[in-house]
Amino acid sequence: MHIATVNPANGETVKTYHPMDEDEVERRLQLAEATFRTYRTTSFEERSRLMHHAAQLLDEDQDAVGRMITTEMGKPVAQARAEAAKCAKAMHWYADHAAGLLADEEPAASDVKDSGASRALVRYRPLGPVLAVMPWNFPLWQVVRFAAPALMAGNVGLLKHASNVPQTALYLEDLFHRAGFTEGTFQTLLIGSAAVDEILRDDRVKAATLTGSEPAGRAVASTCGEMIKKTVLELGGSDPFVVMPSADLDRAAEVAVTARTQNAGQSCIAAKRFIVHTDVYDAFVERFVAGMKALKVGDPMDEGTDVGPLSSEQGRQDLEELVDDAVRAGATVLCGGERPDGPGWFYPPTVLAGIDREMRIHREEAFGPVATLYRADDLDEAVLIANDTPFGLSSNAWTRDEAEIDRFVRDLEAGGVYVNGMTASHPAFPFGGVKRSGYGRELSGHGIREFCNITTVWHG
Ligand code: NDP
Repeated sequence: MHIATVNPANGETVKTYHPMDEDEVERRLQLAEATFRTYRTTSFEERSRLMHHAAQLLDEDQDAVGRMITTEMGKPVAQARAEAAKCAKAMHWYADHAAGLLADEEPAASDVKDSGASRALVRYRPLGPVLAVMPWNFPLWQVVRFAAPALMAGNVGLLKHASNVPQTALYLEDLFHRAGFTEGTFQTLLIGSAAVDEILRDDRVKAATLTGSEPAGRAVASTCGEMIKKTVLELGGSDPFVVMPSADLDRAAEVAVTARTQNAGQSCIAAKRFIVHTDVYDAFVERFVAGMKALKVGDPMDEGTDVGPLSSEQGRQDLEELVDDAVRAGATVLCGGERPDGPGWFYPPTVLAGIDREMRIHREEAFGPVATLYRADDLDEAVLIANDTPFGLSSNAWTRDEAEIDRFVRDLEAGGVYVNGMTASHPAFPFGGVKRSGYGRELSGHGIREFCNITTVWHG
């Protein structure tokens, strides 16, 4: 794939980049290794000072960064600015909390004695250079939620970003350098995906994290498996959004619209399958479809736009094929469903009813503003439909009945259960999935410990 900024709102190529050659990649790997030798010994206080500074610089850059993201991948500019603000917040959070999250752990005195030790503790030490293979959909956030904990833990980062967001990739490298991190602490590798395998096989790279599609995750994890290297995978999702009779229907429908269409629906944790109890099905659908129709689709640089273009022509084509397959198999289009004329990779907010399990859209991730509706006769059937997917990233359940809440929390197969709200990541909460949504966790204490050597220190 070409490394270039191509504006999704009009299809125009803004800037192209030469991929880094082997010599340049080698220079950067050497620098990463050399930097780690000293960076690993820096104190939490020092790392924290630099991370706070990076967050402050990012906050100052918010407007320019917002426009850059919008130009590269098409999200409405207000959402792009909000992404930058969220990243700064996560950087501050890890700067404040890393020392506590990675503090030495003392086993129970009785266990220490039982092991024959005079003293014992568990220490979290960094692993070394970690390669992050990242996607374009939240081009700043996906990287920061790796980089902030990784750097605070004393690792150094290497970023292979998606080929359509090179400016954001280079901005991130520059941001960490301006904040005072030495050059090798965080480096961007401008390379295509074909160059990733060799880097994963390099002894200097100790671990990898990937957010993206299943094929990409499989490729990275297979190589890392061969090389016995730790991986964290955050892959696709097809999150259920279950609405039960006791739910606040107005609020549920309003949140459903946002949960499905934020970032033009190109989010792994977007609610994608809407499973509605038969008693409130018609009332919910009426509100939901009205909300989807009311969204303003258009120029993502316009402050009033709700839904911008998809990030690529390929992405639009993939989405269209899922919709067409469902319609051919008998699904009903309640709104949207047809690409508009004109430039840019726009696709309208779309709602499909009458989904059955043979349709591709039931089993695959719809990466765009397309919602599917299911009718459930009772809670058991709702849970059955919700879990009838290869994915297990997050889930949403709307009910005011405590017993039903307990059932959803017990039975939904996902890395998150959000009750009466939509899934959103927060630095303090672990983020990640089960099934084919991946493994490992990002964010919180769980995320920062993923790339640590959890070391037992035992004194005789
Ligand atoms: P990809 O998974 O192809 O891209 C994500 C990242 O992985 C990019 O940096 C890409 O590089 C890299 N990559 C791709 N293939 C390989 C490989 N074999 N080895 C190493 N790295 C690789 O996602 P797409 O952008 O193509 O989107 C396709 C679908 O993936 C979407 O429709 C959606 O379903 C899912 N997706 C999910 C995301 C999520 O947040 N969970 C995010 C993005 C996509 P390059 O750009 O150079 O190809």
